[in-house]
Amino acid sequence: MIDGYTRTCGLIGNPVEHTLSPMIHNTLAALLSHNLVYVPFHVEKDNIFSALKGAYALNLLGLNVTVPYKSQIMEGLVSVDELAEKIGAVNTLVRTEGGYKGYNTDMPGLYRAMRGEGIEIEGQEVVILGAGGAARAAAFMCALQNASAVYLLNRSYDKALAVAKEVKEKTGKEYIYPMSLSQYEKLPDRKFLAIQATSVGLYPDTERAVIEEEAFYRKIHTGYDLIYKPSETCFMKLVRKQGGEAYHGLKMLLYQGIIAYELWNNISVPEKMAVQVYEILKKKMGVMDER
Ligand code: NDP
Repeated sequence: MIDGYTRTCGLIGNPVEHTLSPMIHNTLAALLSHNLVYVPFHVEKDNIFSALKGAYALNLLGLNVTVPYKSQIMEGLVSVDELAEKIGAVNTLVRTEGGYKGYNTDMPGLYRAMRGEGIEIEGQEVVILGAGGAARAAAFMCALQNASAVYLLNRSYDKALAVAKEVKEKTGKEYIYPMSLSQYEKLPDRKFLAIQATSVGLYPDTERAVIEEEAFYRKIHTGYDLIYKPSETCFMKLVRKQGGEAYHGLKMLLYQGIIAYELWNNISVPEKMAVQVYEILKKKMGVMDER
């Protein structure tokens, strides 16, 4: 029950109306008997810093930040965690003395989700499709977790080049190779782990994949799509058709939320509770099949 002691967390972004985050955090609060509520806040671009100031003044415990403010918000924070600083994006704000501190839980969320599926990053050759915010987080994850090579394929080659350069500079890893999408044929003649980090195939445009040629999918042993709506994307179907394992991004969403909740409450969420929340998310998204 909401009373005078209830702590508030929330999400700022635009749009926020379809978010699943309240389901994650309010379920966790109920399971843990925490007196905490989580609310989405639709914030217009010009109001982002006044919203931040207002949130602090209203004693909000923490915030998630979503598209399109993950980089812009950093200017308004008192400090930024080292990993988030490297990635250049924050999605979680934690209340501290004098203001909010920014963290990035997307990257560790993706890592925890992939490890949970038994996918190794260390020593792997990885193909990342995309060079936007999510692809950047994936590229940093691969570099920091010691993948043996990362091929960054993007429609706009310049963006792939810029991300690869930045990841190399900030991690000291040399093996990040930018390519345009059409150059996939030049990938070495081996099988790769592929992380699909473009927005192609996202609901409602579900019949498309960023690369549709079967020849590409013959090079993939495991495909991880960051998209979770639909729960079987066209990319995943193409991976499976060539005999590969394929996963959607709902567990990444789950774990970025769980890590944020852990930061706000200074706790560690038991894995069995993560599974309970995941079951609720799956039900909401109509996910039946977990191959
Ligand atoms: P951005 O807008 O930052 O990046 C979009 C990327 O998609 C760019 O690389 C862009 O290429 C590429 N792209 C878009 N349209 C096309 C097209 N028609 N053909 C080829 N490439 C295209 O988005 P984000 O990085 O924030 O998000 C990417 C995806 O990841 C989204 O679908 C999002 O839902 C998902 N995501 C999932 C999360 C989760 O928790 N599971 C968390 C975050 C994101 P170009 O540079 O050439 O424009």
